[in-house]
Amino acid sequence: MSPPPALALAPPLLAWFAQAGRHDLPWKQPATPYRVWLSEIMLQQTQVQTVLPYFERFLETFPTLEALAAAPLDAVLSLWSGLGYYARARNLHRCAQTLVRDHGGVFPEDPEILVTLPGIGQSTANAIAAQAFNRRAPILDGNVKRVLSRYFAVDGWPGTRAVTETLWAYADAETPGHAPAAYTQAIMDLGALICRRKAHCARCPVQAGCASFRTGTVDQRPAPRPKRERPLKRRFFLFVFDADGALWLAPRPPEGIWGGLLGVPELETLPELGSVLETLGPPSSLSPAQPLPPFEHGFTHFRLEITPVHVHLTGRPKVEAFYAPATWETLPLPAPLKRHLRTLTTARSQSHVENGVLPLFPKGTGRA
Ligand code: SF4
Repeated sequence: MSPPPALALAPPLLAWFAQAGRHDLPWKQPATPYRVWLSEIMLQQTQVQTVLPYFERFLETFPTLEALAAAPLDAVLSLWSGLGYYARARNLHRCAQTLVRDHGGVFPEDPEILVTLPGIGQSTANAIAAQAFNRRAPILDGNVKRVLSRYFAVDGWPGTRAVTETLWAYADAETPGHAPAAYTQAIMDLGALICRRKAHCARCPVQAGCASFRTGTVDQRPAPRPKRERPLKRRFFLFVFDADGALWLAPRPPEGIWGGLLGVPELETLPELGSVLETLGPPSSLSPAQPLPPFEHGFTHFRLEITPVHVHLTGRPKVEAFYAPATWETLPLPAPLKRHLRTLTTARSQSHVENGVLPLFPKGTGRA
């Protein structure tokens, strides 16, 4: 299929956006490069509703690029905790430091320079250039891929190179030279509000030109990712509580899953438990290890079955890195760990534990 005449989308889309677009998003008021960049990174793989409170908290804590660059990584990861995809937070921090060190704290306007910065891909670079500097720069995020693949009836999974190249060509051809900032927000809004996974074609401002609507094939596009079985990994997560109910935590390696967050020891088999516990104290000061029912956490490429194992120290631990329950909510912890700890604190406050197990700590909030 050859591309249609340019700018089939922009005129109806801009008219619709003026009436029905999301003009009240906080990163639009004002759309400074810092706010736009922050929102773009947070919105990768994450819904607007989820991002909103995080965005507000980030701006309160780090009102400027300089403040973010000067902050310790732990503070950034703490605020990010719960948003997932933590590489984004690490790159955000590195990017802020790079901008302050190499660019005088000023965002470059050129997307070809923006794209060289940590954590900024081509679509994000273009989105920043378009929204913060009103430059003509096409974007191709998940929402836009869905709109374009339906509007132009592009078949195939957008994750493949050939389909991505076709979609980029349409994105480029359709981005207008005038009002690129408004057009960029408009096509993102169309994907978020109208051309959703379940499309609201009856309300769509570009329905008249939509090839998938015309042929009754909207539900077939975009083609889903080819199915493949995600392998299941099984791990034991060791939760060691001291006599005050505080939890032993240590920083995870900087790279890889949950890189740089705090975590508990992760074991492939239970017999490994012995050598880990040796670092904590004599066996007489430890309660017997208590495995709890497993639960699952999904990643893109695999599923993780987590079996929590609780151990309680009665003596004085050899290591000091114990964190009181009162601090858990604010710590940079992986989501499933935080979920498990929430279950514990809720159960503790209700004076019972699900599954009939009572693995918790004595009274008192423990050390800070
Ligand atoms: S008509 Fe339907 S499928 Fe086509 S762009 Fe609009 S909402 Fe999407």
